[in-house]
Amino acid sequence: MSDFETHLAKAEKYLARFREGVVMNQIGGEAVEAADGDSFETISPVDLKPLARVARGKAADIDRAAKAAKAAFPAWAAISGEERKKILHKVADAIVARAEEIALVECMDTGQAYRFMSKAALRGAENFRFFADRAPAARDGAALRKAGQLNVTSRSPIGPVGVITPWNTPFMLSTWKIVPALAAGCTIVHKPAEFSPLTARLLVEIAEEAGLPKGVWNLVNGFGEDAGKALTEHPDIKAIGFVGESRTGSMIMRQGAETLKRVHFELGGKNPVIVFADADLERAADAAVFMIYSLNGERCTSSSRLLVEASIYEEFTRKVAEKAKAIKVGHPLDPQTVVGPLIHPSHEKKVLSYFEIAREEGATIAAGGEKVEGPGGGCYVAPTLFTGVANDMRIAQEEIFGPVLSAIPFATEEQALNVANDVAYGLTGYVWTADITRALRVTDALEAGMIWVNSENVRHLPTPFGGVKSSGIGRDGGDWSFDFYMETKNVAFATEAHKIPKLAG
Ligand code: NAD
Repeated sequence: MSDFETHLAKAEKYLARFREGVVMNQIGGEAVEAADGDSFETISPVDLKPLARVARGKAADIDRAAKAAKAAFPAWAAISGEERKKILHKVADAIVARAEEIALVECMDTGQAYRFMSKAALRGAENFRFFADRAPAARDGAALRKAGQLNVTSRSPIGPVGVITPWNTPFMLSTWKIVPALAAGCTIVHKPAEFSPLTARLLVEIAEEAGLPKGVWNLVNGFGEDAGKALTEHPDIKAIGFVGESRTGSMIMRQGAETLKRVHFELGGKNPVIVFADADLERAADAAVFMIYSLNGERCTSSSRLLVEASIYEEFTRKVAEKAKAIKVGHPLDPQTVVGPLIHPSHEKKVLSYFEIAREEGATIAAGGEKVEGPGGGCYVAPTLFTGVANDMRIAQEEIFGPVLSAIPFATEEQALNVANDVAYGLTGYVWTADITRALRVTDALEAGMIWVNSENVRHLPTPFGGVKSSGIGRDGGDWSFDFYMETKNVAFATEAHKIPKLAG
């Protein structure tokens, strides 16, 4: 049996449980159907066939879950950070033990290639370990003195929180948002994306089997407009950690206004990779190709705009086009596959529509630009490169969220920066140059929350993650995550009998 056939057989085995009955919500430690018995179907992007029916939660289910999270909060917040650390490490161990199952189910639910998803499950476990280790110190603060006064700050968990996640790499992203909340002492209600809900079910089961107390983690599946909306409006939910589209972020802010919800947004991107002529062009080309065509281009940090110095534009874009054409599009479980099918026919339609838009706008399609007939007949799209792109074209301004790259030439550093910053988004930037002074100037002026110089996106968990402009509000990673999920309290002690103003007598 080839590795591909083994993956197929194992995926079938792991998916069998989802095909029976309804994939349940998890509320107060119990697997439950939606209160009104409603459910929805999730399909595989490989062949568009149903994978499972999933409980379709609505306001009543969110209310139950929020109440369960509220009831579990005092005990979870009160246990020691050391104890939370132990439990979260046990969850990490359990994720590692089931990494293959998670990866194979994720591939079939999202269309992401196994070569990336096998690592995504393990990265999820790493997220648990990273925040587990920080749990004991999460409440620590500072001592701030002035004459006659000692101030002591400390942090405490904000309360039950809502976590709303997108469909692109759901397992890894869910851990990224959920674990710091748990480590801080918050309880949660998770609403996963309706296009890829399966691994969220595995995750909550794994956590409870590993010893997470009942009600600390509640899962409600459903659609954004009912379950998601109800979560953002619920008075017992103190904060919303959200990853998804920028316009959904706006809606959530509006919905949460009435209950003064604290929000943390990781939103869309149209990230530039800026290549100067003095860069190591082979490395730059490999990195640019990796950052747009890995994870099907369904990646918020993807380098979807390629800004190339005019003197090397032809040569560089030819190199990128050759690499794009050589990428294997195929079944997500085939170990050779780089680009699998896009998540859903509706998203595929959106991505394909940009090929027509590119033609109308007068860009050149240097690679791809078409649908691919892949195994299973699902949502396969060719890795695509547009050249001759001007920055005011829609293909240079709008987040396509597929394996589609728009290449724009620039003449000067100033022009490169103007083009790079002339978009609504500001999540990441990538700068390729051998000139360190230029790198300092460019990174200083680039409007982005995260920039890599002479590198693709290599994540270091203690560093801040997040965007500016329409790409987000707030930062994750390291202590930044705790700042969001915790309240800071200051206590001022008088250290001497200072003079108190007398208003009478
Ligand atoms: P989406 O905004 O459509 O959906 C995300 C989640 O929000 C889903 O669970 C959905 O059900 C829910 N939702 C929708 N409407 C809602 C509402 N009114 N109230 C509450 N919840 C609602 O995003 P998507 O299409 O699932 O994901 C793709 C987007 O996510 C892209 O824009 C991508 O850039 C972004 N993303 C950002 C990051 C980041 O870290 N910045 C990471 C991954 C993905």
